[in-house]
Amino acid sequence: MSRAAEAVIDLTALTANLEQVRRHVPGSHISAVIKANGYGHGMLRVARALQQVDAFAVASIDEALDLRLAGIDRPIVLLEGFFTVDELALIQRHRLTIVVHHEEQLRILESITVGPQLEADTPLSVWLKLDTGMHRLGFPPSLTASLVERLQRCPLVDPALVLMTHLANADDRRDSLTERQIACFNDTVAGLDDTDGMDFSIANSAAVLGWSRQTRVGTGPAWVRPGIMLYGVSPFVDTTAADHDLRPVMTLKSRLIAIRELKAGDAIGYGGTWYCPEDMRVGVVAIGYGDGYPRAAGNGTPVLLNGRRAPLVGRVSMDMITIDLRGHEKAAIGDEVILWGNGLPVEEIAACVGTIAYELLCGVTHRVRFSEFRSNE
Ligand SMILES: *Cc1c(COP(=O)(O)O)cnc(C)c1O
Repeated sequence: MSRAAEAVIDLTALTANLEQVRRHVPGSHISAVIKANGYGHGMLRVARALQQVDAFAVASIDEALDLRLAGIDRPIVLLEGFFTVDELALIQRHRLTIVVHHEEQLRILESITVGPQLEADTPLSVWLKLDTGMHRLGFPPSLTASLVERLQRCPLVDPALVLMTHLANADDRRDSLTERQIACFNDTVAGLDDTDGMDFSIANSAAVLGWSRQTRVGTGPAWVRPGIMLYGVSPFVDTTAADHDLRPVMTLKSRLIAIRELKAGDAIGYGGTWYCPEDMRVGVVAIGYGDGYPRAAGNGTPVLLNGRRAPLVGRVSMDMITIDLRGHEKAAIGDEVILWGNGLPVEEIAACVGTIAYELLCGVTHRVRFSEFRSNE
């Protein structure tokens, strides 16, 4: 039998979560963020299930080319734009949209000329990124008018720009930076002479769910860029998916491969960090950090065994974890164990481990078997 570790992807939940995006921002253009292999869910699988979106967004040209190779023909936004001039021919040929966030990129766009590599009749779609307070990527907003002018003068750039910014702290609804970033963006946009043909984009998942009114710019159908909420995970520090009517897309599961009858005082696993307080049964589950289950998960981190919780005991090893079977008298070898997903929010496991759900989802390794299904509504 092959390894029991399995990530089950619920495509119905994925499309239901997309509907939640639409419910929060009706009329907006949606660019579904599917970078990092669709947050670990399988980029092509996610793209095929979300064909109705207006665009996809990825981090790099390699991800975009994989999508094109698979026949995905929607617009694709490269969230970090391009890195070298050589990429532009491919970007043009595959009609990829580039985020321009740095002077270096702008200079390249100003210097390129039409030639055998670059054709005049397919202008490059550009999203211009402004730094309104995150201080990662983007130009100072004070330069916006001149940047727009420079971009619109580039012969190979489509003058219908999208102005964008990214929110640093939108996952914490009490943080005042979000309102300041939104105000900065809106002021900047309002100060532009000519916004004809321009569009705007501010919102990630947290903003779609928490600031949808504030992140509407002007009257047009601004672009939203949801990622994590599509996968059925809350972006907020203090809620889980169910609070937002989102449904988890990935369920990570495996099976019990051994049940041990141990004595009081027996130490479990590497380092012997947990001792049996009494004679008891301990279950061994075929999943470990080699599969992407975090080694940082400590004693007491819950798993679901036959639909009920059982606590992790002892260290996570590469291929296995051990769980406390007290209260699970009927547990038998072969029983299913859910590590996160349906019935056990990945947000909760992330909190146990001191990280965010994004990292756990992205970290599931190639060794895990992926399968997909469509659940009933
Ligand atoms: C990753 C990313 C997103 C999506 O963020 P979520 O929190 O997953 O919704 C949106 N915009 C940009 C620029 C990103 O890099």
